[in-house]
Amino acid sequence: MNPDDLCPRPEFLETFATQPMAPAIYPAAVYRCQSPEQARKLLAGEVHGYIYSRDGHPNGDALAEKCRELHQADRAIACGSGMSALTAAILSQVQGGEHVVVSRHLYGRSLQLLGGEMQRYGIASTLVNASNLQEVAGACNGRTRMIVVETISNPLARVADLGGLAKIAHDCGAQLLVDNSFAGPTVCRPLELGADLVMESLTKIINGHSDVLLGLLCGREGVWQRVPEVVSVWGLSANPFDCWLTCRGLGTLALRAARAGENANEVARFLAERNDVEAVHFPGLAEHPDHALASRQFHGGFGTIVTFTLPGGIEAASRFIAAVSDRIPFSPSLGDLSTTLSHPQSTSHRGLSEEERNDLGIFGGTIRLSVGIESPAGILEALGGGLQSLSDRS
Ligand SMILES: *Cc1c(COP(=O)(O)O)cnc(C)c1O
Repeated sequence: MNPDDLCPRPEFLETFATQPMAPAIYPAAVYRCQSPEQARKLLAGEVHGYIYSRDGHPNGDALAEKCRELHQADRAIACGSGMSALTAAILSQVQGGEHVVVSRHLYGRSLQLLGGEMQRYGIASTLVNASNLQEVAGACNGRTRMIVVETISNPLARVADLGGLAKIAHDCGAQLLVDNSFAGPTVCRPLELGADLVMESLTKIINGHSDVLLGLLCGREGVWQRVPEVVSVWGLSANPFDCWLTCRGLGTLALRAARAGENANEVARFLAERNDVEAVHFPGLAEHPDHALASRQFHGGFGTIVTFTLPGGIEAASRFIAAVSDRIPFSPSLGDLSTTLSHPQSTSHRGLSEEERNDLGIFGGTIRLSVGIESPAGILEALGGGLQSLSDRS
């Protein structure tokens, strides 16, 4: 068979009177070059085009461009996962012998990367409580290149003062890198508040359907110089099909984030009024320690994570989780269409000692909800049923 029959040229499509409504997927790993001269120019970046998909491809660029606009960034790139986007941020900005200041409330794998892995390459780190700006400023020294924080922390939804942190970073000649995965661009755009770089796990609410692992790095022109090369050389690139799916997810992000955010608000109020729930953490509640800060920095709700603690420790949590499992799956991630829950003590925070967890406000009875876009009445009914089952049996 002639390979042309297996692989129609793009011109073939243009002979039709109609064009497809859905964007194409370009799974090509490699592209045809016309001449050695053209190949040289492509590789030198003198003409725009693709040559090898680790260096870039149309689906990755389409996704990155939409995310760039949402964040009002100068530059953006899709990476193979949230972790590869974080890796690209560090490797492109920080050298061996330099130092990063890291919020101790980061995602567990991020702490492993910034504390353990990067230390093996000579990058030192200091852990701080990012809610204490004095402590953050005190941790910076002449070798500090970066401060790394999350917009909304897991699981207690502490909100970082991004404007204040950016000023501290810039005063000591460093950059502010923000992991915005728990907020997403419809809730918070850290670059507008002074951050230099933003990373997101697109795996979560941005793709929103739990069927893709992908990351985003975006930022200001001045910090971008080494980023594309680092992504290609360290092999951190995204694959075309995942980018295509995530573009589809992005099309409904604003609607999903708004609906899930409203639902989260209702869920938080419902739980806060119950006397069989010990504590509720959601920045939309007036009693949350960062409510005023969140109101200033956010412009589309307060996110979709609601964490609460049941009296009665892990036994109560296990019974609650079993009672709601038909309606609310125990699924230790977030940002799906449907409401899911997680148990931080046995998943995300299992590596900490009990004392460290208790200092953070995480107990055996602590449950983290990722609120979805179902009818709010259905979610409240499921939660109410779960709480009722605890009192029935005690
Ligand atoms: C999930 C997550 C990551 C890692 O992203 P992956 O896409 O799983 O690699 C990083 N930070 C936060 C806050 C996350 O929730």
